[in-house]
Parts: sequence; C-alpha cells; structure tokens
Amino acid sequence: MNIVFISAEVVPFSKTGGLGDVSAAFPKAMKELGHNIVIFTPLYKKINLEAHNIKLVKKDLVAPVGDGLEVFELYESTLPDSLVQVYFIKNKYLFREGIYVDEETGEDYADSAMRFFSFSQSVFTSLELLDFAPDIIHANDWHTGLVPFLLKTQYVEKPLFSKTKSVYTIHNIGYQGIYPLEKLADANIPEIYYTDDFLGFNDQINFMKAAVVYTDILTTVSSKYAEEIQTKKYGFGLEKFIETRKDDLYGIVHGIDLTIWNPKVDPLIVKNYDVHKLKGKAECKSYLQDKLNLDVSDKPILGIITRIASQKGLNMIMKKFDAIMDLKVQFILLGTGDPKLEKRFKSKEKKYPEDCSINIEFDNRLAHQIEAASDFFLMPSIYEPCGLNQMYSMAYGTIPIVRNTGGLSDTVTDYVDDQANGNGFVFENAKADEFFEAVELAVSLYHNDQPSFIKLQKRVMNIDFSWNNAAKKWQKVYEQALKKRWKKK
Ligand code: ADP
Repeated sequence: MNIVFISAEVVPFSKTGGLGDVSAAFPKAMKELGHNIVIFTPLYKKINLEAHNIKLVKKDLVAPVGDGLEVFELYESTLPDSLVQVYFIKNKYLFREGIYVDEETGEDYADSAMRFFSFSQSVFTSLELLDFAPDIIHANDWHTGLVPFLLKTQYVEKPLFSKTKSVYTIHNIGYQGIYPLEKLADANIPEIYYTDDFLGFNDQINFMKAAVVYTDILTTVSSKYAEEIQTKKYGFGLEKFIETRKDDLYGIVHGIDLTIWNPKVDPLIVKNYDVHKLKGKAECKSYLQDKLNLDVSDKPILGIITRIASQKGLNMIMKKFDAIMDLKVQFILLGTGDPKLEKRFKSKEKKYPEDCSINIEFDNRLAHQIEAASDFFLMPSIYEPCGLNQMYSMAYGTIPIVRNTGGLSDTVTDYVDDQANGNGFVFENAKADEFFEAVELAVSLYHNDQPSFIKLQKRVMNIDFSWNNAAKKWQKVYEQALKKRWKKK
C-alpha cells in the first residue's frame, strides 16, 4: 500500500513524548512489512538540517490556506537506519523554536489552530507535487485532526485521491485542539462546516472531534483505552461521538523500537547487558547513583520519567512520598511540566539528598540511563492511552508499578495475583493508599526475596514487545479501511 503518515513530532527530529517515538517506529515497522510509507512532519527551527541530512525539495509552494497565498517549502530526509522517506513542511506558522509551546513565555502558541491547519493543507499540496497517490492517509492526534475533513471535502474528488482512505489515531484524548472559531478565520473554511454536525463542538472548533466525524477508520493505542474513551470518565466530552464510531474503532498497543530501547545495544548507557548477563545493569545503577550524587547503595531505585501533568498521577506519589522513602529506597525523577509540582518534588530532594534526585529537564540520555539503572518504574497514571515507558522498563529489566488503565492494563499483569506469569505490580483505583500498597509489595519482594525478584526481572526482559505483532494487526486495520465506502455528508 501507499501510505502517508502525518505527525507533529517524529524522533529523532522532534519529540515531546511518546508520539515522537511512535511516529518513527511505526512507519519503520510498516516499511518492513513491504509497504511504501512516507512521513510528513513540520520543520521546526530546532531541527538541524545538516545533522539530519535534510535537503530542500522545492521552495515557493502554495497551499490553499485562506486566500491561497500560504507559501511553504518542502524538505526531505530519511529516518536513521531505514529507508523511510520523511518530508518536512516549513512555513511561517511552523518554523518556530518550540513545538507547541513558546519557550520564552511558557504559553501554548496562540495561533496553533492555524499552524496545524496550514500544515495539513500543505501535506496535500506536497502530495500533488510529488504525484503520490495514497491508499491510506494516516493522521495522528489533534494536530492533524483536520486531515480527514480536508480529504473528504476538498480532495477526494481529485483523481490522485479518488481511492484514498483515512485512518486517524487518538494517542491522547485529553488534548483535542479546541479553539474559538475566529482562530481559524484565516483558513476560509465555509461557515456551514462550523456547526456541531461537522467541525464544531459547543460553538468552538474541535480538531479531534472533526477527525472522529470524518475519518474512515478510527483507532487508538490500546484495547482498554478504546473502551475507556467511550465513557464519560475518560472521554473528555467526546465519548458520545466516539461511541457512534465504535464499529470502526480499533485499539492496538504500540510496540517498541528495539534498535533504540534495548540494553544490549543502547549506546547511551555505560554498560550494555542482557537477560543472560545482568551484571551490567548493576554497573549502570552505581554509575547513575554516583552521577546524580546519591549514595552508591543496594537500595532499590524507583525511577520515573514523565511529563509533569495531572494525567500522570504524580499527586499520589507526592502524598505518599515520605512513607515511600521510609521503605529504604532511592527515588529518581526526570520530567518537566507543571511548575508547582516541579517545586514540590524539588523540595523532597533537599529533604533526602542521599536518596532522592529530581531532574527538571528534558534529557534523552538521562532517560535511557534511568531505565537501565532503576529496579522499579512508577506509572500511577490517572489515564494512560498506551504508555511506552512501562515497555521500555521491562526491556531493561526494570519492574513497572502501574495503575490498571489504558495501555498499562493491556501490557502489565499483576505479580501479586499471579506469581507464575505476572510482570509488574498493578493497583486498581487512583487512590494514594492503593498506589502505596503496590509500592510496598514491590519493594518488599526486592528486600526480602532476591531470587524471586531476579526471576521476575528475567521474565519481563524476555517479553517480546517488538513491533512485529502490532504491525501485522495494523495491516489488517488498513485493509479494513480500504473497504470503506464514504457517504458524502
Ligand atoms: P506520553 O506520550 O504520555 O508522554 P509515554 O510513556 O508514551 O508518555 O512516552 C513518554 C516518552 O517521552 C518516553 O520515551 C520518555 O522517555 C520520554 N520523556 C518524557 N519526559 C522526558 C524527559 N523529561 N526527558 C527525556 N525523555 C522524556
């Protein structure tokens, strides 16, 4: 199939979270299955053209934005170690220091609606330039939510797109791209589309809702999350729209890219190791303890790498922080986000200088080193569509402690319930006491029964989280999409 994959972030060019990782790993896996897949992503200012061998394809292209005067430039490169073609759109809206947030003010860019509308339009113009006829256009998250709409209302009658079907993936329904209508005024979209039957929702424009209405096939990133987003608790107001599309809704957990997240070959950790030679993991642990000025001790390390956002359940950790430290553990956090919570965590570092390290920054190397050095990884998420870190952790022999939600539910089973097969510690409700109980049980296994702990470590390292299985499921979803017949609205 000819597949166009569109995403606001793609590793190694840009990343704020899991979307960036997946937007590289997924196309690679589909390419390996034999599909002709190309990626489209914005060119942000921080992306270094030389370092990534990014070359200009054409200047002075014009996308039909507003009066038809939106000029953009098209660039190209390939994903590292693969033949997947990546195209970059550069225009005045997209070419900024930040991806979503103005780094000087810390605020979201005020014109994000136009930024990502212009991006989506430019992708279609580029496909026409390249004479690329897609079987599937696959858009991701709110940023590209208008892609299925543009396909069905502007492009499907053109010969190049006459057979094109759209697939849309919700990676996080908590971010829908909701804006006052005037924010898209420059887009010149006919007013009729602003009603609630189409793009509008409660008199605002809602990018994700638009995709739910217009896409041929809707997907999300775990089977549990596919159920959850049809409920009021998790649907963030979109549940009733999702429910109407439930026959076209699929939930597939991501795989992980084992060329990047694999302790056997990872160049970012001090000692490589694998399930047969776990000694290297101990070296990674003492190295990191030393680097972060912690006591170099046998205490178990609880690691966490996260956006500091309410979604991630960090308040539960904060509530139980002192009780957790009383369990004779070390705690390492890497993350950025909510300044208030950042400060509260920082104060704990002062209280436990030898056992607690709080790193408020975005640092990919440190992220890999924490995965390798930790004994446990905390993900007490309020909701977690898929989650990659629990799978990265297991690949590194680090036992996840998670709440039973979304992709965590699809990938982690409780060791306490089933010691023969369990691969982590799972608690049910987003309550600090339940979270703490899971931590207590996990740490007690480490302190009191090392042979069982090591057995568990080896078990999780042997689980196959590669993309192979997921890619085959995706192929079936694409085949379903090709069978779809669109009824004009
Ligand atoms: P989400 O996409 O909700 O942020 P995931 O668990 O799916 O959560 O993916 C998070 C990804 O972002 C992981 O690759 C993680 O290592 C990375 N990450 C998050 N915060 C940081 C940080 N401060 N520094 C480096 N990497 C980070």
